[in-house]
Amino acid sequence: MTDYAALKADLEGLPVEDNPAIVKQKSRDFFWYSPVLKRQLEDVSGDLVVTVRSEADVLRVLKVCFAHDAPVTARGAGTGNYGQAMPLSGGVVLNLAEMNRVRHITAGSVVAEAGAIMADMDARTKSHSGQELRLHPSTYRTATIGGFLAGGSGGVGSIRWGGLRDIGNVIRVKVATMEAEPRILDLAGDDIQKVLHAYGTNGIIVEVEMPLTAAYDWVDVIVGFDEFMQAVGFADDLGTQDGLLTKEIAPIAAPLPFDYFLRHNKFLRKEQSVCVCMVAPFAMPAFEAMAGRSQGEIVYRSDRASAEDVKSLPPAYELAWNHTTLRGLRVDPSITYLQVLYPFPDHVEKVRKMQSLFGDEVPGHLEFVRFDGRITCFGLPIVRFAGEDRLEEIIRLHEENGCPVFNPHRYTLEEGGMKQTDRTQLDFKRAADPKGLLNPGKMIGWEDPDFDFESQSVYLFPGLQSAG
Ligand code: FAD
Repeated sequence: MTDYAALKADLEGLPVEDNPAIVKQKSRDFFWYSPVLKRQLEDVSGDLVVTVRSEADVLRVLKVCFAHDAPVTARGAGTGNYGQAMPLSGGVVLNLAEMNRVRHITAGSVVAEAGAIMADMDARTKSHSGQELRLHPSTYRTATIGGFLAGGSGGVGSIRWGGLRDIGNVIRVKVATMEAEPRILDLAGDDIQKVLHAYGTNGIIVEVEMPLTAAYDWVDVIVGFDEFMQAVGFADDLGTQDGLLTKEIAPIAAPLPFDYFLRHNKFLRKEQSVCVCMVAPFAMPAFEAMAGRSQGEIVYRSDRASAEDVKSLPPAYELAWNHTTLRGLRVDPSITYLQVLYPFPDHVEKVRKMQSLFGDEVPGHLEFVRFDGRITCFGLPIVRFAGEDRLEEIIRLHEENGCPVFNPHRYTLEEGGMKQTDRTQLDFKRAADPKGLLNPGKMIGWEDPDFDFESQSVYLFPGLQSAG
């Protein structure tokens, strides 16, 4: 048993929060997106929240926690939506949000501390030299760069640049290890994969270097279509136009846009499907021509909107990615969602098949992206939730039809991902976190090396507090 009073005394001088209500609040993320995770993780809480403001603070906290055998779970802004940042067996929640300095900007790259918020980074790089991050999650205005690297995958900009997993989209990370004498390691090239999307289970990211691209005053555009598959065809066509610069392409099926986009629905009809886009200003004439060719009706464009609309409407990216689901949950808390890949080259046909199989039980929401150099689509379809058994059946039917599901109703890395342990990340954990104190319960390969991923059984972390 960890003696938290003694641990707290050893952290004298650092901001430590032990008020149970505040600690519980800082132990939660957007896990409640999933009815399954909501049931499993509702009671999870850390024991202490420790706020760090420098690399030296991080090293000190890790050293003390190692000595006390205390679990440490990193937290950026807590916007992860699979319980990634939730301390399943208690311990210290390491709050990195105040470690947020932008350190250095050059032509093509920015160096920032892990707790920097992505929109703040862009504000700095734009005013410095008209540059911005290549890609960001739709939580751009709240989420941290360290949390994105450790817990996210891609987002706005992925239509041009692919995802975080693509080599070159992260230049360098500095990582602190969890050892008797914590070290700082500099990872670049292939080594970055050791900690990317590892949920902070094998190191604490303290600093990142990210590539930049030219910044534009992106035009938010909504194109309306009579049929969802028309919107999908348009999106696919648009995504493959090499000369037309877009940052976001998201077809969304009726009636979701009208029902969920409450501040935009004055522009929409209930039976209208849409394609939500972000387009470079100079590309608008080409974009208009394409929309016309596809029988699409441009129902909203921010460059021609009234000053009042521009001020009051959320940006297009906050209608997309997991913000579509968030807006849906606000209107109808009974819905849930999936994360699906429709692999190239017959991705559009696969979408059509899933649409005809499920209809309005699983209304479509796609995100067009560059994946391994090809334009294809991910889906974040809404699911009209009718119980966990039916949800499992819907997942199975997607997979049987060649559409892999990255299950957002699981809290482990493997079950939410490729259903296998990432050996590189596991090996790195052995070296960087020998006692297994970083974010326990999230990497099955560490907790239960014999777990059979073929068995269809759900992994239940024995250390989960609410499991008793
Ligand atoms: P947190 O939620 O605090 O942490 C995420 C994970 O990273 C946790 O496992 C945490 O322990 C770990 N972690 C945090 N900081 C560090 C660190 N410094 N070192 C090591 N580990 C760390 N994701 C996408 O990829 N694309 C999207 O478009 C997207 N849209 C979203 C929209 C909504 C409305 C919501 C709720 C979520 C969305 N997400 C998306 C998921 C999430 O917002 C992103 O992954 C986000 O970047 C997480 O950042 P954060 O600072 O909130 O991280």
